[in-house]
Amino acid sequence: MAEILDGKFYACEILKEVEVEVAALKSRGITPGLAVIIVGENPASKVYVNRKHEACEAIGIYSLVIRMPESATEEELLAKITELNNDNKVNGILVQLPLPKHINTEYVLDQICPDKDVDGFHPMNVGELGIGRNRLVPCTPYGCIKMLELAGIEIKGKKAVIIGRSNIVGKPMFNLLLQRDATVTVAHSKTQNLPEVCREADILVAAIGKPKFVTREYVKPGAVVIDVGINRVDGKIVGDVDFDDCKEVAGAITPVPGGVGPLTIVMLLFNTAKAAKIQNKLM
Ligand code: NDP
Repeated sequence: MAEILDGKFYACEILKEVEVEVAALKSRGITPGLAVIIVGENPASKVYVNRKHEACEAIGIYSLVIRMPESATEEELLAKITELNNDNKVNGILVQLPLPKHINTEYVLDQICPDKDVDGFHPMNVGELGIGRNRLVPCTPYGCIKMLELAGIEIKGKKAVIIGRSNIVGKPMFNLLLQRDATVTVAHSKTQNLPEVCREADILVAAIGKPKFVTREYVKPGAVVIDVGINRVDGKIVGDVDFDDCKEVAGAITPVPGGVGPLTIVMLLFNTAKAAKIQNKLM
């Protein structure tokens, strides 16, 4: 029976670290600030934005939520980003995704100042991560890595398999695991013999977007299974891993909810504090 990796516990541990950083910045007269832009009425996005706002306020990060109507034009959104790029009180800018279809998401995200890009999606931050000069790293994969480290799970020399090659999760996860000396395979929808490939993994990361996709036939006995998936099924949140099936085989496993999700929010606070340090030339 697998050890359950409790994301809330590890998120609290990381939060303590961020609180120390925020206090240190405040003692220098710097209050880190995060601006979140939400366009439209997507109910899940609204919940996420509220959670981010509350998390900031709870640890003394200045939080600004900008709500724009579904009908907002790309020009209006870009004008807001320019304003925030020039606002000294704002150290981090996050555009909540998905954006309405009439807006070019990639172009919009590229206009965020790289030093304020707390999502770590700007090509400059992506490039820095690729060459091992990490600046602002995407929150979800970075949170997974921090959890593995805090849980004392060895990464060096291990075989890791990531299912999913998105820019948000799979690819940055690849870089972070490789930097820590894992031997990493990135699988995707065209990968052949996927269960067999996955059964090689000491660390298996599922970032697919398909509910309960990973079953015990994908898991090597004793492997660590990280479930990044968030899927809504019949009003309930389920992961990409069939938790009940895989926990019988895995050595450690994250639940959904209560696994990777809480880490993502806390890493956003971590990145906001880091962005404040970068902008104030403190690192
Ligand atoms: P994407 O849809 O961008 O990527 C999904 C990846 O899964 C793609 O690379 C795709 O392959 C691969 N895939 C799809 N079907 C299969 C298959 N049958 N076999 C193998 N690979 C497959 O998703 P994201 O990376 O953005 O998100 C993944 C999951 O993580 C989602 O459930 C999302 O909600 C969740 N998520 C959770 C976060 C959190 O805070 N916990 C944050 C971000 C995401 P291909 O490239 O070939 O199409």
